[in-house]
Amino acid sequence: MLEALKRWKLMVFAAAVFSASGSHAASRIDSARIWPADDYTRLTLESKEPIQQKLLIIENPDRLVLDLEDVELDDALKQLPSRVGQDDPYIKAIRIGRFKPGVIRIVLDLKTKVSPEIFSLKPVAEYGNRLVLDIYPKEDALMHLVSKDKAGEAPKPGKARPIVIAVDAGHGGEDPGAHGLHGSLEKNVTLAIARRLKSLIDEEPNMHAMLTRDGDYFIPLHGRVVKARTAKADLFVSIHADASPSRDARGSSVFALSERGATSVAARWLARRENESDLIGGVDLSVKDPYLAKTLLDLSQTASISDSLRLGKDVLHELGSLNPLHSGMVEQAGFAVLKAPDIPSILVETAFISNPDEERRLDDSAYQEKMARAILDGIKHYFSQNPALARSNLVMNQ
Ligand SMILES: [Zn+2]
Repeated sequence: MLEALKRWKLMVFAAAVFSASGSHAASRIDSARIWPADDYTRLTLESKEPIQQKLLIIENPDRLVLDLEDVELDDALKQLPSRVGQDDPYIKAIRIGRFKPGVIRIVLDLKTKVSPEIFSLKPVAEYGNRLVLDIYPKEDALMHLVSKDKAGEAPKPGKARPIVIAVDAGHGGEDPGAHGLHGSLEKNVTLAIARRLKSLIDEEPNMHAMLTRDGDYFIPLHGRVVKARTAKADLFVSIHADASPSRDARGSSVFALSERGATSVAARWLARRENESDLIGGVDLSVKDPYLAKTLLDLSQTASISDSLRLGKDVLHELGSLNPLHSGMVEQAGFAVLKAPDIPSILVETAFISNPDEERRLDDSAYQEKMARAILDGIKHYFSQNPALARSNLVMNQ
């Protein structure tokens, strides 16, 4: 795992160096924002031109160094240090200066070791080009927290930790996903069903749900996996709505990650489309590749793929009582969002938003509730057949 992380970091460096080549006239940073979310802090720089950058991780003391090429040092950047909150979990302070001709250096002094992700977003609506730096806790620091939590729970015999389900509403923000003929957007339908599923799960005595997003905003695919792992999820369920050039295409399907490749041409096509969510969101492919590479490097996927297939089968069975099935078996494809190495993960294509009939149903709150209920019933069936698969039991047995 550590070896994989090191290699990943090298690749991030390489990508950063490559993306920094090429020359541009000096551009202005129009806006510089920082906000801490629950599990990461996001720094966003916005400008009219794409921002060329290079990111370095430095230890003793821990800091991130972000070099911006051909950028003017004007007000938005100068004010950035004053925008760091004292309670920011990761950033102690920010310093900015001219490093050498043509390069502005931003130094983030850190409170702890971090795992940064950097990507760029293309202009959309009122937003310009954005360079986004997400600062996550470093993986081994995260593991330390996890094991500490487990140690705290293990000595209480008979009182298991609830099963944690990560519910992922597909797409969001500037990535609307697919859309229906009557104007419904996949990102809204998925959020509505995800919220219903969360409420139903939270009503169960021994289950708890977390949403990877609870609003209309964009999260890169890998960020969703990181959130699920941070929450120590036992399962990951990503909610989507399907689309096809053919209006007649209809029905539900369930996907699990494939080790080798897609089980069908349709599955391959779909994986490409869902993965392109990051591209639709405007993430630069050259910077995105390392994330995919990182997720591919994970080691313990085989076990969770067979668990994912079992979970998928149970969910598909329940969906079949609500909706025709688009495919009668769990399909497998290389979805980036399913690549949590140790969490059984499925992607549910609830129905076809491109089918006017199914679009109407997807917009209907009673149907959304039934859909959420069917997914929950599938999850419950999975755990009733495979009780040892809940992480809480693993913890109890240690
Ligand atoms: Zn989707």
